[in-house]
Amino acid sequence: MEDLHRRVLVTGGAGFLGSHLCERLLKADCDVICADNFYTGTKNNVAHLVGHPRFEVLRHDVTFPLYVEVDEIYNLACPASPIHYQFDPVQTVKTAVHGAINMLGLAKRVKGKILQASTSEVYGDPTVHPQTESYWGNVNQIGPRACYDEGKRCAETLFFDYHRQHGVNIRIARIFNTYGPRMHPNDGRVVSNFIVQALKGDPITVYGDGSQTRSFCFVDDLIDALVRLMAAPDEAFGPFNLGNPDEYTILELAERIVTMIGSRSRIIRAPLPQDDPMQRCPDISRARRILDWEPSVPLEEGLERTIGYFKSLLKVE
Ligand code: NAD
Ligand code: UDP
Ligand code: UDP
Repeated sequence: MEDLHRRVLVTGGAGFLGSHLCERLLKADCDVICADNFYTGTKNNVAHLVGHPRFEVLRHDVTFPLYVEVDEIYNLACPASPIHYQFDPVQTVKTAVHGAINMLGLAKRVKGKILQASTSEVYGDPTVHPQTESYWGNVNQIGPRACYDEGKRCAETLFFDYHRQHGVNIRIARIFNTYGPRMHPNDGRVVSNFIVQALKGDPITVYGDGSQTRSFCFVDDLIDALVRLMAAPDEAFGPFNLGNPDEYTILELAERIVTMIGSRSRIIRAPLPQDDPMQRCPDISRARRILDWEPSVPLEEGLERTIGYFKSLLKVE
């Protein structure tokens, strides 16, 4: 009998991106299984979904096998911020690599579609600007970011090998810096750090001289891209750069957040972390052409909504 609802597994479903994705899939009438070991995600992120008749949470670590019957898998499980993924680098590699093997084994067995949440970090500190998907990257494989960067690069390798060797139906999303409500307030990422610091009146910590650049995508735009990629024709498996091509220096971001909040915080300098990429900006032509997608939320609006979230989290007026 044909299933009425698509059954979808979201690994890392209790994290920042995962929780928004679960919400979005439930709205699209899917049966959603959220599998998470709550390493960096929290039950709070999905508390509002618990009790929904098509939603289920499993406490599960993807480095161990998982047997469930699903049609689609979004593999998001992995700590994503530098302080979290560097806290236990061996576990980060295991999550990226063993997690990918297990989820690919699952996709192979159920003959389902599987999407990998890869990252712009596969480009390392890029020598090509903006980055296109054909660029092979510039990663220091023995540096402190390597557990994440190389773990994610190996996961992409596994996805392509499972596709070529076993015919698994894959999709690869190379996600660039994404921000929005439910970012972890202490995970050290730049948008959450600056907003929390500005709301508390604490110094805004700009690392280095603040001339390094990033491009920031609002979470709703990114989730839209992931869902489009999963629904795209099977031959459109990517990799796809997904992010917002509007590029800002970190200093510009700090100044903008201080102004928007009307904060009394001062901007101070702190040391630049090792291997911190100097420039990052996606070329999203492929996603525009094949997925008919581009981000629509401007930075100002996305920051406004994120500031609103942190205000209520920190109980600041
Ligand atoms: P997050 O830390 O909020 O979410 C990751 C989730 O994975 C958490 O809920 C965590 O508990 C869970 N997890 C970690 N290890 C696990 C394991 N072994 N087994 C099961 N669950 C595990 O981070 P996020 O920003 O939501 O990132 C989600 C995915 O998107 C990650 O794979 C990340 O690499 C990728 N990504 C995110 C960004 C971004 O800017 N947010 C950019 C590039 C890539
Ligand atoms: N796996 C899983 N769920 C499944 C099927 C497989 O977690 O539904 C795991 C399994 O434990 C295995 C991994 O995925 O270690 C890779 O599976 P594959 O079939 O590629 O390899 P094999 O089982 O032949 O080692
Ligand atoms: N950054 C900063 N101050 C902070 C946190 C981050 O200046 O409090 C800088 C960091 O050095 C990097 C950029 O902001 O150049 C983005 O950092 P994040 O950790 O958010 O993401 P990633 O480096 O993985 O892109």
